[in-house]
Amino acid sequence: MTNRKDLWLDILREMEPKIGRAQLLTWFKNTAIKASGEGVLRVGLPLPFFLEWHATHLASITLAAAQKFDPTLNQVEYEVDLALASGNEETVELGRHFEDVKPRKLPGKPEVKVGEGMIARMLNPRYTLDHFIVSPENRLAHAACLRVARFPGSLNPLFIYGGVGLGKTHLLQGTAREIHQNDPKKRVVYVTSEVFVNDVITGIQHQSINHIRSKYRQADVLIVDDIQFIANKDRCQEEFFHTFNALFETGKQVILSSDQPPAHLELFAPRLRSRFEAGMIVDVKMPDLETRIEILRERSRQAGVMFTPEILEYIAAKADRSIRMLEGVLTQTIAKYELEAINPTLQLVSEILEQIQPEEKQSSIFPPSPAMAVTLERLIEKVSDYFTLPPADLCGNSRLRECLLPRQIVMYLAKTRLRLPLAKIGQTLGQRNHTTVIHAVKRIEEQMKNDRQLLGDINALTREVGLV
Ligand code: ADP
Ligand code: MG
Repeated sequence: MTNRKDLWLDILREMEPKIGRAQLLTWFKNTAIKASGEGVLRVGLPLPFFLEWHATHLASITLAAAQKFDPTLNQVEYEVDLALASGNEETVELGRHFEDVKPRKLPGKPEVKVGEGMIARMLNPRYTLDHFIVSPENRLAHAACLRVARFPGSLNPLFIYGGVGLGKTHLLQGTAREIHQNDPKKRVVYVTSEVFVNDVITGIQHQSINHIRSKYRQADVLIVDDIQFIANKDRCQEEFFHTFNALFETGKQVILSSDQPPAHLELFAPRLRSRFEAGMIVDVKMPDLETRIEILRERSRQAGVMFTPEILEYIAAKADRSIRMLEGVLTQTIAKYELEAINPTLQLVSEILEQIQPEEKQSSIFPPSPAMAVTLERLIEKVSDYFTLPPADLCGNSRLRECLLPRQIVMYLAKTRLRLPLAKIGQTLGQRNHTTVIHAVKRIEEQMKNDRQLLGDINALTREVGLV
């Protein structure tokens, strides 16, 4: 038994830098080696709904790590043993070996609450209904959001679906903000389905599911973004169903987004799908060329740069898969223009497009990272999300520790993974010169060698941003 426990701890340690500490603590708590021999490592899981996740996402990483210690292994098998659920002599006490860091919160930065009553991880200030450019392809969705923002409960549930990067999150966050502005007493809860899943799992593990339930059920407005990721997690789906019913039946507004219409969400229980279908279902599609040019014009105006109509038209014509892609191309064009003093030509824009498109193609299945080229802007967004630190602080001048470390992490990732020019990185992150960036990169590299937590953060971020 002790041997198995030691081996399991070794394997977990080996895996940690690859999957990050938060994942490790979530999915490996109260797990154990049940048997090992004849090439098979048999892993015990404490709860049935872990099975699916382990089998699809963690099996190969687990095997690779185990092979380091026992090269004869060639397969991982799972069994559910409820006796493990509260920890017993077979399980490794994770908390003792890996300090809890999930999600990493810096001192004084509460995870939730944007204003009183508003519960959400950071809302993007740019995502307002006013700034949403309306076209025939999204008019109905926008109108439905405006209506719900004025009269919560009036279109219930409101279900918005459409492909990646077409404005669903923008609409949902804009609606959340507006409802809250109209009536600050309303409790508005905005979460991505990943946050919901995490909450439920934590609730189950820490026997605090009632607390989690009440967080959601006290909402006046519940907004869940990218609901499709709850689909194959039975227990979470079940929790969601009950929460949904509780709110729906008392006339509380529920707003959902998904990449598919309800009828195509096959992994959802039919009773849940038919509940979705009872409300208002609207789609968002890629706007026409004219609207795309309009979006580009607006965005470059916000950035204080004007490009010739030919350039804007060229970008709009070529970047025809998602608005996010459109914005990615524009952002990079602006960066070239501002930082390297290169006046954009059609040739330059087409090179940028070529870099972006291959990434766009490969990433549509899983993980749920949206298909797009990773830009410095997105990296900043992710890091600020991760540390619950407003992007403005990250890019600002504060020398507080809680800003410094995340800022250095952005610099490190921007340099080593995105391979961006030092000058650009420095400039975007608070007008700093390139020596500051070099210093930051060295520091992080140095610190990572003996700070496992930092290493875990970097790994988690690399994955979240979609760099692996
Ligand atoms: P989704 O959630 O559908 O994947 P997002 O809401 O994240 O897409 O949108 C991607 C980007 O495109 C965001 O920066 C958003 O502000 C922008 N965007 C999408 N549609 C519009 C629109 N109609 N007007 C202005 N910006 C838009
Ligand atoms: Mg989205």
